[in-house]
Amino acid sequence: MLNFAVGPVMSSESVLAIGAEQVPYFRTPEFSDLMLENERLIKKFSKTNERSRAVFITGSGTASMEAAVMNTFTEQDKVIVIDGGSFGHRFVEMLRIHKIPHDIIVPEFGHSITEDQLKLYDGKGYTGFLLNLDETSIGVLYDIHLISDFCRRNHLFLVVDSISSFLCDTFDMDALGVQMMITGSQKALACPPGISVIVMNEEAVERVYSHNPQIMYLDLKLALDNGKRGQTPFTPAVGILRQIHQRLKEIDENGGVDAEVTKTERLATYFRDKIEEYQLPFTISSKDLSNAVTPLSPQNDKSAYEIFDILKKEYKIWICPNGGELRDRVFRVGHIGDLSTNDYDVLINAFLDIKKRNII
Ligand SMILES: *Cc1c(COP(=O)(O)O)cnc(C)c1O
Repeated sequence: MLNFAVGPVMSSESVLAIGAEQVPYFRTPEFSDLMLENERLIKKFSKTNERSRAVFITGSGTASMEAAVMNTFTEQDKVIVIDGGSFGHRFVEMLRIHKIPHDIIVPEFGHSITEDQLKLYDGKGYTGFLLNLDETSIGVLYDIHLISDFCRRNHLFLVVDSISSFLCDTFDMDALGVQMMITGSQKALACPPGISVIVMNEEAVERVYSHNPQIMYLDLKLALDNGKRGQTPFTPAVGILRQIHQRLKEIDENGGVDAEVTKTERLATYFRDKIEEYQLPFTISSKDLSNAVTPLSPQNDKSAYEIFDILKKEYKIWICPNGGELRDRVFRVGHIGDLSTNDYDVLINAFLDIKKRNII
């Protein structure tokens, strides 16, 4: 299998090897040490300080998105949310379910939001801002500097779902004044799905301790309290946390987050250049790209889903299809996971082959 999806992605041999081991009992000093190191490295790679905290939630990224919403906002808040694709819709749905007043900004398709769009919301009594830094569904990276400035001047609590952008695009949590950042195990962390991570700065930790969400499993106070000694309130996905530990240490040993971002950028650029070099009949459908993924629209009315299907069935190559109304219009090629330029050559050759066969 050669997998260019945007999660789950290909894991390294060393991460896979841990997946083949027995899962140990976890209320032990050894597991606590591993978890404390996980927290330290996640904070380091988020570029935040010692006073910040990171907690590990057993649940996919959506669990942490909902935990972030429930533990920091109430009916007294007024939140801005960017709704640019299926992950933006998800935040909107959560705000609706939890009865948190909100307004939606819809970007132009394939673009980040603009300064003019944001200006309309200045000084209007908002208290929070939610966004998916890379709206993975359509491969649009929002302008975090613009949003960070806006939140600073309006004193908004900024929650960033960085699930597919973490380790792929430059991100400095403290410099940007981001209060809460979310990521997940199955994107650039390149581990199996099942764990998501919430990084909170000092202000966010305080805010969490002053809220009482009507839920037990996702009450972040419990996660923060237990995390102080490297533990979790309930049985976590122990095996995945051990794989995450391996992966984080490898990133650290190989030059840290900056080197990882550079590697992802190099793969993304390599692939995008090849598309152009071979004049493949695809148009990149985003003007503001993340290094994590390239969204492509087939030309000549060819179906994006059919291309995904043929590559999977006949070439054993997985790209990422889209759902809903974009099913036939867009497919995505990821640049995360254990991939090399050679792997992209294999993909490009498959594209050239289906071109020769007049499929595209
Ligand atoms: C993958 C992803 C999620 C998480 O989705 P889950 O299926 O719950 O893991 C959330 N937001 C973004 C931007 C993502 O890319």
